[in-house]
Amino acid sequence: MSRSSPLQWSRRSALVNYAVAVLSVVAALVAALLLEPDMHSSPFVSLSLCAIMFSAWFGGLGPGLFATALSVAGFTYYFVPPIGFAVAPTDLPRVVLLAVTALFVVWLNVARRGTESALRRSEAYLADAQRLSHTGSFGWRIASGNIVWSKETYRIFGVDETVKPTSDLILQCVHPDDRELVLHEINRAALGKPSYDYEHRLLMPNGAIKHLTVRTHRVKYESGEEELVGALMDVTATRETQEALDTARAELARVTRVTALGQMSASIAHEVNQPLAAIATSASAGLRWLTREVPEIGEARACVNHIAEEANRASEIMRSIRDLARRADPEVVALDINAVIDETVALVKQEALNHRVTVQVQLAPELPLVRGDRIQLQQVIINLAINGIQAMVAGIDRARVLTIRTERRESDQVLVAVQDVGIGTEPEGLDRLFAAFYTTKPDGMGMGLSICRSIIEAHGGRVWASRNIGPGMTFQFTVSAYR
Ligand code: ADP
Repeated sequence: MSRSSPLQWSRRSALVNYAVAVLSVVAALVAALLLEPDMHSSPFVSLSLCAIMFSAWFGGLGPGLFATALSVAGFTYYFVPPIGFAVAPTDLPRVVLLAVTALFVVWLNVARRGTESALRRSEAYLADAQRLSHTGSFGWRIASGNIVWSKETYRIFGVDETVKPTSDLILQCVHPDDRELVLHEINRAALGKPSYDYEHRLLMPNGAIKHLTVRTHRVKYESGEEELVGALMDVTATRETQEALDTARAELARVTRVTALGQMSASIAHEVNQPLAAIATSASAGLRWLTREVPEIGEARACVNHIAEEANRASEIMRSIRDLARRADPEVVALDINAVIDETVALVKQEALNHRVTVQVQLAPELPLVRGDRIQLQQVIINLAINGIQAMVAGIDRARVLTIRTERRESDQVLVAVQDVGIGTEPEGLDRLFAAFYTTKPDGMGMGLSICRSIIEAHGGRVWASRNIGPGMTFQFTVSAYR
């Protein structure tokens, strides 16, 4: 609680309040007795009213009433004839008038004091709320340029409360990379934008960085004066947690990609071996054409071309695998989702064949480019495809087909569906499949679908599972078109 807390008013000893009331009335009495001989009328009424007012202001209702009682007694005793506490009936109205006026003064003071105390209390609550929520407030008179900060705003900016805030001071504290943005927002606000909302960073003297969100609106007073009134929130902790979470999530996604690659290693080795075997065959054939008595240059050239094509194919496969395994920050670009699917199918095709699964690809023509990270979307498709293949492995005697489909959804969405004819799942457990660590496989991690969901949601899309009318399941996701 701040030092000027109103609670301290009530904590002050009642004894002090009453002592102050006594002293004020005694002072008024002594002054009146000393001054009376030089004046035509008694100054005690005015002086005692001052004493009562002071006592009520200082100590509240009790001391105010006490000072009233003392004043009425002192007035009756010293200034209303006959001397003593007796009052002649003709003087009674003077005494009553003093008492009524005094009570009125006490009432006024107590009422004002109550309002003041409520105001202080609410100010203290506001200051506490600002401190607890790391939210400062500010006002900026547009015509005069006068800026007012709350205590918390001073604390957030790391500026001493004796310093007068100015736009130069604000810009000095802003991170150099964000100064242009802040200046732009300030100018827009000054030019009449009714409200604005933005984020920027502060660079503190010790090199630390703070993240702020600022929300401001323009207020027009009856006087015609305009002020920008706003709140700024220190969201550094949230941003840092978010960044740590993003890093952990990216690392987890990479680990599961590498795990998926591990699961597919036999198929990948086969996939790379195929072009290598083709290269070896073409090389021997080429040599044979060249070592003929009359070398067949045309045939040999065809062999060399074939070698080059196969070498490119092998290196494409290696590139895809390296990309999937490397740690990379997401790179959102315009992607041809059909091409991403083709590339992914090349990686899972052999895995499918090893399990006697046929992969069918039904790609819609003329899809718009989508907005996404190629590796992350590949990871989603690989996860869904491998799950589909695994769901068809155990005891399925029908033709095992994995269908990967694309279609246009609304004007700005593309849908990708991965459909299997596998064991399926219970209808009530569909959403549970996406929960982290949910798995029904003996060696499963239960992270694949949960990562798929976080990747797709980070892309602004949606992923869901449904049971097919026939056997098996379909997993579908949407991604936004690149605009
Ligand atoms: P994991 O594959 O390690 O178990 P996932 O998050 O990829 O982790 O999958 C979670 C669970 O969802 C699986 O264990 C399985 O029970 C279920 N599941 C996923 N895909 C399918 C599918 N195509 N058919 C049936 N069940 C599936």
